[in-house]
Amino acid sequence: MIFLNLVLVTLQLLGLSNAVKFDFINDFLNFNHFYKNTFYEAVTQEETAVVQLNENWRFPSIKIFATGGTIASSGDSSTSNAGYSVNLTINDLVDNIPELSNLATVAFQQIYNVGSNEITSLHTLKLRNEILSSLKSGEYHGIVVTHGTDTLEETAFFLELTLDVKEPICLTGSMRPRTSISYDGLMNLYTSVLVASHESAVNRGVLVSLNDRIISGIYATKSNSNSLDTFKNDEQGTLGMFVDNQINWFISQPFKHRIAGLFAGSRRLLEIEHSFEMPEVLILFGYQSLNVELIELAVNHLNVKGIVLAGTGSGSWTDHGNMVLKRLSDTLGLPVIYSTRNANGIVPVGNLPNGKYKFQGAIAGGYLNPQKARILLQLCLIEGYSHERISEIFKLVYGGSRF
Ligand code: ASP
Repeated sequence: MIFLNLVLVTLQLLGLSNAVKFDFINDFLNFNHFYKNTFYEAVTQEETAVVQLNENWRFPSIKIFATGGTIASSGDSSTSNAGYSVNLTINDLVDNIPELSNLATVAFQQIYNVGSNEITSLHTLKLRNEILSSLKSGEYHGIVVTHGTDTLEETAFFLELTLDVKEPICLTGSMRPRTSISYDGLMNLYTSVLVASHESAVNRGVLVSLNDRIISGIYATKSNSNSLDTFKNDEQGTLGMFVDNQINWFISQPFKHRIAGLFAGSRRLLEIEHSFEMPEVLILFGYQSLNVELIELAVNHLNVKGIVLAGTGSGSWTDHGNMVLKRLSDTLGLPVIYSTRNANGIVPVGNLPNGKYKFQGAIAGGYLNPQKARILLQLCLIEGYSHERISEIFKLVYGGSRF
């Protein structure tokens, strides 16, 4: 109480409006309430009594699914940050973070142990179904997934689209192997359990948490191949920060993106079999003097069901390329998503091929990067959606078609 009075006096001195003061105090009380929950062993006798009286009190139970990646790798020396391999298990990591027991009761499962370059759609689907059944059991308040950082954004995006649950699901990894003097894995795992067990993370969908940031599973992308500070979502904004292990959400009200959970009801996704494969969707990269025969070769030799273009600028492609794509799309019914090779910015409908190059199957990818546009298109295809329906769905990310 004395502390709260001090906060009030400080806010008074700062000359803040009553509304701002109220928000601040409210946030403080909420945080303090959580703080007591999480670090209950550290609080005084009096505070413990307050916690016990709170009917909402719960000590969180978290499940970690470990899939491998650098976070579970070790190399030759403490200064080497390349050429290492996946050779540790989730037990090795958890055993070295006794502090986790202050946050939650932690269960863990080594679902795979591979570099994320080896992760396929079968892996991500199995992971999704395991998460779903763990949450359905009612035993867990949140989920953490450890993952290689190279394709982490694809798994996060897939989970965001195919799960509609209130419990936080937080993906993490590391940029340095366990043997490195700058290993970031233990802290990333710790903060991920922290956020996955936090009541303020409920109903925020899939989160990616590395290097002190909490980022939306829809927007997160690996921006740097080497540095610790790699997961970004430049235009769309980080959701929050860990500052001295306190969670600071930038937006206090939980929200989910309108495409989150869009395929959560898909029956096809539950039919997991070894033969299951996502429809073949190719990503073609745009550059000067691109040989457009590549497009024909790929489509003619692979069982291609759709194409995503990592085009230049805001989705531009050569006239010749557009002509080939139009012909292939018109004759084979292939949807073609126009995305961009650039890290930021969107491909709007207005930039789709026009005039004689215009075609029905051309769809703008909006703000989705090529690898995310590919997953969204694959999910649309397994549902058997028409071009019109696919276009409607891409409109939810400010893309879509002219038709
Ligand atoms: N090659 C690793 C992987 O994605 C990179 C990492 O985890 O940072 O599995």
